[in-house]
Amino acid sequence: MERTLIGELGSHIGETVSISGWVDVRRDQGKMVFFDFRDRSGFVQAICLPNRPEAIAEGKKLRAEYVVRVEGIINKRPEKNVQADKQNGDIELEIKNIEILNPSDAMPFDISDDTSGIDESVRAEYRYLDLRSKRMQKNMRVRSEFVRRCREFLFANDFTEIETPLLTESTPEGSRDFVVPSRLHPGKFYALPQAPQQYKQLLMTAGFERYFQMARAIRDEDLRADRGFEHTQVDIEMSFVEMNDVMNLVEQMITTTVEAMGHTIKEKPFPRISYKDAMEKYGADKFDLRTSEEKEKNILAYAWVVNFPFFEKTKEGEWTFTHNPFSMPIPEHLDWLMKSENIGDILTTQYDLVCNGFESGGGSIRGNKPEILEAVYKVMGFSKEELEERVGHMLKAFRYGTPPHGGIALGVERNIMNLTGETMLREVQAFPMTRGGQTAVMKAPKSLSQKQLDELHLSINADDATKN
Ligand code: ASP
Repeated sequence: MERTLIGELGSHIGETVSISGWVDVRRDQGKMVFFDFRDRSGFVQAICLPNRPEAIAEGKKLRAEYVVRVEGIINKRPEKNVQADKQNGDIELEIKNIEILNPSDAMPFDISDDTSGIDESVRAEYRYLDLRSKRMQKNMRVRSEFVRRCREFLFANDFTEIETPLLTESTPEGSRDFVVPSRLHPGKFYALPQAPQQYKQLLMTAGFERYFQMARAIRDEDLRADRGFEHTQVDIEMSFVEMNDVMNLVEQMITTTVEAMGHTIKEKPFPRISYKDAMEKYGADKFDLRTSEEKEKNILAYAWVVNFPFFEKTKEGEWTFTHNPFSMPIPEHLDWLMKSENIGDILTTQYDLVCNGFESGGGSIRGNKPEILEAVYKVMGFSKEELEERVGHMLKAFRYGTPPHGGIALGVERNIMNLTGETMLREVQAFPMTRGGQTAVMKAPKSLSQKQLDELHLSINADDATKN
């Protein structure tokens, strides 16, 4: 018999159906056995009645999380047993036949409840079970819907989705790189992308005009609640645009997406505030505009922060970029940049999207002429040779008719945290790392065999080889 999804059982009253899924709960009451069964579409209560002894005998063998195929009749529940607030609360599956497709060991922890209190390393080891819990199922589905809706919006607005390489060159994105040794080029390394920044700009040179990608960004940062080594961003770049064009498009995308997902936005259009005012008013460039009542209702309070300083001093007293070396200053300050004047006062076209205390995205209009990028690197004290070595390929591309362009990247995880109310990044990733940087389920980072090391032309310090 063909499988019926549990979520659709309500339209099969009086019929015999076959469901497939997991035993969520089993309550053995001697003469009768009750179950809750679960599949991707939901839950249903089921019962083995005393008039079906074979079904009872089979039912008594079942334990939580066994995978089963169950045949039975969908009955309306008597009025007094109806649970109106529950899915399938008005029906019950009267079991005729049970087939065990695969048994299960006892769960290492209770997945019928919120698992956030369970030891992190245990959750990581059994992440595939953790993901069965209601909250994690919801988080993953919210994430999938958010990404789908963003994608649909971008396609409807004439964007092309293009993938950029994962094995690439170290980029000046402001964080530490993860590197990959090269077998073919002894002593040389690829870097995993901290962002597709340069490639997406090159796609503007290439004439695509509107690019996006659900891009993986990989950064060797200190792990915190809202930071992991890997995150995903809705990465966007557009040609022939100014700040307002990008900001308005993103605002529309976010509004369309989150409202369709049933959320309420506090203020539209999103308020805009300068970096200076934000620092004076909130003491930070990320802030929460919600009242405590709005926090309870999980209202989304978006705001744009603009007019960031382009440069700041490092501890060593040298100038470095605050956000992105490829940015354009605001038009009024371009002259200062070109002349290396008033450096601390130069403002960049950077726009950051803040929501409920998190930075949920950021981007800028880019300097699309070689002399602008040269001026940025000159401020940062780079010699001509260093400049050539770092971004020579960009300078070259900018000499071949690169249109004015700008873009943004929105952090998928941070947006999902806002939508779900989660405060940890790893609650909205399927297989996150632990705080100690260990992969979920599998055991990376791991040592390599001597053969692999030889092939990669690597040797490990004797000191390090004995650690871990
Ligand atoms: N590449 C930047 C980042 O990943 C975002 C952007 O400017 O588009 O933060």
